[in-house]
Amino acid sequence: MNELKPFDVVLENGTLIDPVTGLNGSYDVGVRDGVIAAVDASLKSEKAIERIDVTDHHVIPGMIDTHAHVYEHVTGKFGLSPDLVGVYSGVTTLVDQGGPSCMTVGGFRKFIAEPSASRVLAFLSAYLVGGLEGHLYPELYGPNGVNAEHTITAAKVNRDLVKGIKAHAEIGGQSRWGMEVIKIGQEIATAADLPLYIHLGQLWPTSSSAPIPSSEELIRELLPIMKEGDVLAHPFTRHPGGFVSSEGEIHPILLEAVRQKQILVDVGHGSHFSFDVARRVLDAGIMPFTLGADMHGYNVTIPDATDKSERAANPFSGVAPFNLTIAMSELLHLGVPLEKVIEMVTCNPAKLLRMEGELGSIAVGREADISVLKIETGRFTLSDNSGENVTAEKLIRPAFCLRGGEKFDANSAFVPAAIVA
Ligand SMILES: [Zn+2]
Repeated sequence: MNELKPFDVVLENGTLIDPVTGLNGSYDVGVRDGVIAAVDASLKSEKAIERIDVTDHHVIPGMIDTHAHVYEHVTGKFGLSPDLVGVYSGVTTLVDQGGPSCMTVGGFRKFIAEPSASRVLAFLSAYLVGGLEGHLYPELYGPNGVNAEHTITAAKVNRDLVKGIKAHAEIGGQSRWGMEVIKIGQEIATAADLPLYIHLGQLWPTSSSAPIPSSEELIRELLPIMKEGDVLAHPFTRHPGGFVSSEGEIHPILLEAVRQKQILVDVGHGSHFSFDVARRVLDAGIMPFTLGADMHGYNVTIPDATDKSERAANPFSGVAPFNLTIAMSELLHLGVPLEKVIEMVTCNPAKLLRMEGELGSIAVGREADISVLKIETGRFTLSDNSGENVTAEKLIRPAFCLRGGEKFDANSAFVPAAIVA
């Protein structure tokens, strides 16, 4: 131990859970110069400038939200303030899903990633237009709105920021162009050696001039395009064209692909999360790998919005309050063990980003990205936008995080208040 220099901060008396080091119990964590300097049963006899008592709190690796929309201003009403979704919500790393494109990734770096206190990464949009206004104009997302060569180059040049490619497989697009754009998306992802992240579930109205494809047909055409390590998102969506058929069954070929082909599943919670669908998918044996919250300007309440009715008119508007820790609480309520839920927001996303050597663990020598949670016990109402309310006995709430050793309290307006049942 360094005799000369005290710790900058010691987190004391917390319950540490780190799936990577395997530690699960009462440990103190010492941070020095923004780096995790010690993890020990007790650091009480060590010198420290600041001690934070985290009795009755859980200390976990800095949380990673794999599905964020934070290209604020550029994506119109869609993009949220990065730090309100990030560090001020207890989340240290955000992955923007398809906000920036090859044409706008430079602005994303300069105006979002660089000035944010949160670590901000991105899955680059396969489409030139990126995620403007939440993909409001479907005609912009056809094969003419894609340039594989330019996007591959942008992904390679911005490798420090770009960790995957984002595309949409959904019946509105399929009715217009079939699977053409998804195939180009895979061409981009493969050439750039990155995972392809597929939004599954209806996003656009179907074309009035073409027959409406069945979701079965969409899945059957999509799966052969996907490669090992690619991601399917929105397993719990109540929108058509998702994991579950109109008969309420998980598509058998999808189940097979997730098991055999090692396709990963990201929750991508959003406003379309359904407890009923979640139960069916979990019961079928599909366990999400990561737990993106998918918050954006149309599905969360913006405190100072002057255009509330316009936002409420969006098909992805919702009233059930949610964020990453609510999504975690819901999975806990649905029977997923706490340790598994923690993996979905720490070491698993780190693997998806191929940053498992840097992120997702409270190991000595790592940058000090740490989330501190309070798991309340009682009776709490959780709700979805199909009208189902459940009473949960545990509610996970963020208390604060350390991002590179700096402390941020979880006081964001996007952390929903607890609703006591
Ligand atoms: Zn999204």
